[in-house]
Amino acid sequence: MSKIHNFTAGPAILPKETIEASIAALRDFAGTGLSLLEVSHRSKEFVAVMDEACAIVKEILDLGDDYNVIYTQGGASLEFVMVAMNLLEKKAAYTCTGTWAKNAIKEAKGYGQVDVVASSEDKDFTYIPKGYTIPADADYFHCTSNNTIYGSQMHQFPECPVPLVCDMSSDIFSRPFDAKRFSLIYAGAQKNLGPAGAVLVIIKKGILGKVSRYIPTMLNYQTHIDKESMFNTPPVFSVFATLQTLKWIKRLGLAEINRRNIAKAALLYAEIDRNDLFRGTVVTEDRSLMNATFLLNDESLNEKFMAACKEAGIVGIKGHRSVGGFRASMYNALELESVEALVNVMRTFN
Ligand SMILES: *Cc1c(COP(=O)(O)O)cnc(C)c1O
Repeated sequence: MSKIHNFTAGPAILPKETIEASIAALRDFAGTGLSLLEVSHRSKEFVAVMDEACAIVKEILDLGDDYNVIYTQGGASLEFVMVAMNLLEKKAAYTCTGTWAKNAIKEAKGYGQVDVVASSEDKDFTYIPKGYTIPADADYFHCTSNNTIYGSQMHQFPECPVPLVCDMSSDIFSRPFDAKRFSLIYAGAQKNLGPAGAVLVIIKKGILGKVSRYIPTMLNYQTHIDKESMFNTPPVFSVFATLQTLKWIKRLGLAEINRRNIAKAALLYAEIDRNDLFRGTVVTEDRSLMNATFLLNDESLNEKFMAACKEAGIVGIKGHRSVGGFRASMYNALELESVEALVNVMRTFN
């Protein structure tokens, strides 16, 4: 079978090392003679996996003892609720930069006042707002680093006078960044880390315990910190596979991963800009290195282009229904060769 080029937005492409190690563990986990799927999450072998999956995140991001790393469930969508429940007492500031940001705002409004300090909704989320003011009396400021659906990305983060909270679901570990500037980072595993099921949450010590409401035990970050992500049964398979990806990330280093991501994105955007048949949807300076969104000027050719992609082994290129056209998700594990295949189809398409 010829190579399949996987541009799917999520669940998405993973390093082949992650897939191979996961298959091996499904057969025989850590020499137990049992499948990863049939061992206790409290076995010493799995506890070691969880411990390492937390420790390696701190290593990659150069974080010290003033941060906790946990794995939760419920997707990034439940984090929208948990962040507000755990941190919002009076007022929080949010940016509205796409579908996921909007969902986060909607949930936060259930727990307090939400100031939307900047929005790009006026231009269909085709840019990242800049130059806004974050109120110093907000409990926290929430932003979305990469807008998976609209294809825009924050290439820098604003100066922030209050705890900085970020949904990094679709670009975590795609580039070096100063994690110490953040008070809370969350990311659903299924974009850049592993299979669906786990959510990685990085929490600065000292930010919890300041709200007066009752927080249900399962939704309280402190529960998962105290129980080292073992309060209830964690998503063992997702955490195991995520650890394999994190080892791959650590081996390559964020600088090298970033270099690769820049090269892939540069190649695709150059073709989008060169080729008169296509146009990008996001202003150049805010384009995402992870999810490139683009349209055919003549939309009646959409089906024909999809067919040409399929012929070349390219999958997952159809745009989200709210943008239309095409979206090429180029997560860490996607190889340059796959982008070359896509660009080749674009060059020869007529
Ligand atoms: C996919 C995605 C989500 C939603 O994740 P779920 O795990 O499906 O809830 C939230 N935020 C961003 C930025 C995403 O890309």
